[in-house]
Amino acid sequence: MEGFEGVLKRHMLTISVTNKCPARCAHCLAESSPSERNHFTASEIEQIYLSARELEEIGLVVMTGGEPTELGDDLFEAISRISISGVTVRLVTNACWATDSSRTKRMITKLREAGVNEINYSLDDYHAVWIPPENVIRAYKLSRAQGFSGVVVAAAEGPKSKYNLEWIKCHIDNDINVTHPDVIAKSENLEVAKDGTVYQAAIHGYSRVGRAHRMRSDLVIMREGLIDYNISCPEILDQIYVDSEGNIGACCGIRVTRNRVLSIGKVFEENLRDVYLRATSDLLMRAIHVLGPGWLLKFAAGLDDTVRVRDKYANICEMCEDLTTQENAIETLKNHADYIESKILNMVS
Ligand code: SF4
Ligand code: SF4
Repeated sequence: MEGFEGVLKRHMLTISVTNKCPARCAHCLAESSPSERNHFTASEIEQIYLSARELEEIGLVVMTGGEPTELGDDLFEAISRISISGVTVRLVTNACWATDSSRTKRMITKLREAGVNEINYSLDDYHAVWIPPENVIRAYKLSRAQGFSGVVVAAAEGPKSKYNLEWIKCHIDNDINVTHPDVIAKSENLEVAKDGTVYQAAIHGYSRVGRAHRMRSDLVIMREGLIDYNISCPEILDQIYVDSEGNIGACCGIRVTRNRVLSIGKVFEENLRDVYLRATSDLLMRAIHVLGPGWLLKFAAGLDDTVRVRDKYANICEMCEDLTTQENAIETLKNHADYIESKILNMVS
């Protein structure tokens, strides 16, 4: 069967510019911390952008981490070099730098002058252990009317969360637009403020992946019987993602470092077109895209009782991490490649 390269339009490039972070959040999927050291230079980030543009028409570049501002001048230089082409640049930050008003204003001005169009502030109970939520309040308020197209508070929420939507409305902005997993708000329905900016609280549930793998399930919004819905993954390979070690990832939903399924190549070593052509033809990629990680995990566990499946899942990325990090599951699936191929064909025909 052919791959699904032709159906994908990768307009988004996400670069984890460093895995260093002043925080060490208990739920960090990237497993970032103050002791991590991987980072790109401005020239390397620009090179990644130029290679991505050779492959696709990139409309949005997301700079994430770790904490991207840890790069210092290299970050501003990289953003300046990239934004000059007219592409939208989004920065994802924990606002560790927003310790007082003058420092916050300086950082926001530098980011805007470099060419950042959208800024995302991360906030939840686990961030709050390391970064005072007052930083996010300060950064959000001082980001108003600065010419950003979007200012977003990206918050993970669980059943017992203190820093939830109610808290954001009460302490940050009562009139903020809200997107929530239970209410799919279309981006075109978000209200643009008079100053031209969309202010948004993007609420999502916790995902027990990465460092959060063993997070208590009562702290997470679990979806009963989710694995039986056989949800396919529309996101696999639909954007270009490069982690701070230079691994090209099939997505940014989980950590791809040392994940031999979802890590699909090395930036600077291979042509991106070759990497994506190979990946979109790969059986497991196509199976995750069509059959879903839950179906594959159950299938592998049915054939090999050493394959671990959790009682409950919060989302399909948790199933995907369980699937792609168990060698026995991967081997079992490869040994039944013909059957999986026929299932994919049945689903797409
Ligand atoms: S602030 Fe973000 S990148 Fe840093 S440790 Fe926390 S979740 Fe990870
Ligand atoms: S299901 Fe897997 S491939 Fe899809 S977004 Fe989640 S981790 Fe990535």
